[in-house]
Amino acid sequence: MINHWIDGRLSDTTPERTAPVYDPATGRVQDQVALATAADVDRAVASAKAAFAGWRDTPVTRRQQVMFAFRELVASHRTDLAKLITAEHGKTIDDAIGEVQRGLEVIEFACGIPHLLKGDFSEQVSTGVDTLTIRQPVGVVAGITPFNFPGMVPMWMYPVAIACGNTFVLKPSEKDPSASMLSAELFQEAGLPDGVFSVVNGDKEAVDRILVHPDIAAVSFVGSTPIARHIYETGTANGKRVQALGGAKNHMVVLPDADMELAADAAVSAGYGSAGERCMAISVVVTVGDAADRLLPAVQERIGRLRVGPGNREGSEMGPLVTGQHRDKVVGFIDQGEKEGAELVADGRGLAIEGHEEGFFVGPTLFDRVTPEMEIYKHEIFGPVLSVVRVDHYQDAIGLINENQYGNGTAVFTNDGGAARKFQNEIQVGMVGINVPIPVPLSFHSFGGWKDSIFGTDAIYGPEGIHFYTRQKVVITRWPDPIHRGVDLGFPQHGS
Ligand code: NAD
Repeated sequence: MINHWIDGRLSDTTPERTAPVYDPATGRVQDQVALATAADVDRAVASAKAAFAGWRDTPVTRRQQVMFAFRELVASHRTDLAKLITAEHGKTIDDAIGEVQRGLEVIEFACGIPHLLKGDFSEQVSTGVDTLTIRQPVGVVAGITPFNFPGMVPMWMYPVAIACGNTFVLKPSEKDPSASMLSAELFQEAGLPDGVFSVVNGDKEAVDRILVHPDIAAVSFVGSTPIARHIYETGTANGKRVQALGGAKNHMVVLPDADMELAADAAVSAGYGSAGERCMAISVVVTVGDAADRLLPAVQERIGRLRVGPGNREGSEMGPLVTGQHRDKVVGFIDQGEKEGAELVADGRGLAIEGHEEGFFVGPTLFDRVTPEMEIYKHEIFGPVLSVVRVDHYQDAIGLINENQYGNGTAVFTNDGGAARKFQNEIQVGMVGINVPIPVPLSFHSFGGWKDSIFGTDAIYGPEGIHFYTRQKVVITRWPDPIHRGVDLGFPQHGS
């Protein structure tokens, strides 16, 4: 039983409700996870609230030391975390190790917290008057995270929030909660005081309580767009600061002058990596002019060589989908694409892996001649399904992306500097790759899309993460010299 982590220890209460956690490679239930009630959330928030006063006043250098110790522990348990991720999510072990590495980089960013929290100071803004700006933690913060990066996405949030002096209640995905449970234990071992970081497992019921809880000051959310919109609207209506990152439909444009081998490698890696269950996965390749005729054979040849299998098997490049329900949804989209008249070039349905016949596998799937009216184009499929849309002109490709409801990531493949610069300038998307298929910024920049891929103004981690988890305070000080000028009812003016 995977229970909650509250007040620095594993809960020993018997949960009223539980949910199964599957092994996606075999289809078997491997564990049960507790589903929090509102009362469980209240316990975690009460503990976080009680811990806040002490943690916010803990010297920033001490907080930094805890972060350094946590960094060391996560680095030395990298493989343990990756194994938990693979066991519950299904992605390959190499991919899971890469995921932990990207999370670790955010912890390393948070280790620089004394520098990151330095304020501004202006001397003598008026006679005897100085102004300083400081940033202070907001209080109790909640994080709600998706299944697809069970280690990394929570680490986008809590290390930064906690280093800033906040306390944090995490509600990870109920599909793969174990990486967060181990992270909480490691943080405790690093010297984090009880209550500063709690993990409440659960579903909608826990989230609904978080959104209205009066003692939660801010909510970070990452997940699908309908839920992100709901979190943003409900959280802000209840007076909370909210950043809610949503879903995506990422396009990769291939111009006729591109290096087709490079573009084919990129399309296959970014389309099928982690079985397409990445918010930055490429799901649409937009070919301009005759690019498709040269790109497609190269993509097909690579698909033929992909090794699909259990994530923990040596040599597997692509694992199963997270649940049987999600597998059925992805297969439903492939059926739909066929019905809509898209050309099915590679079909991943019905894939049986020897010894893992009940696993949630779908093989790499490729549709050609997809059009924007088709359902497979309009929706985020979140599986190993790549669609090729052919257009005649570069401007059509840019128009297609700019009209899309999502704006998370996009890429252009070309050797023409002017074409690349036009893309960078005109495209209505938050993260842009030039000959880079998955443009995820490192931890010292911030991550976030545009349009329906984000609700709220601050992107996650990096400088915008610091901004989100702190409030600005301006202090104006006056230490007058002994000469007083008397009462002046006029509005203060510079130099007076
Ligand atoms: P999801 O929206 O179903 O779930 C996300 C979280 O919300 C989970 O913790 C879940 O328990 C909770 N939740 C689910 N339904 C809820 C409801 N009705 N009310 C309240 N809470 C609810 O997303 P998922 O399937 O776990 O993850 C995949 C999605 O996440 C994809 O759409 C993907 O694009 C997106 N994602 C986005 C980013 C990004 O940075 N923009 C990163 C990773 C994943």
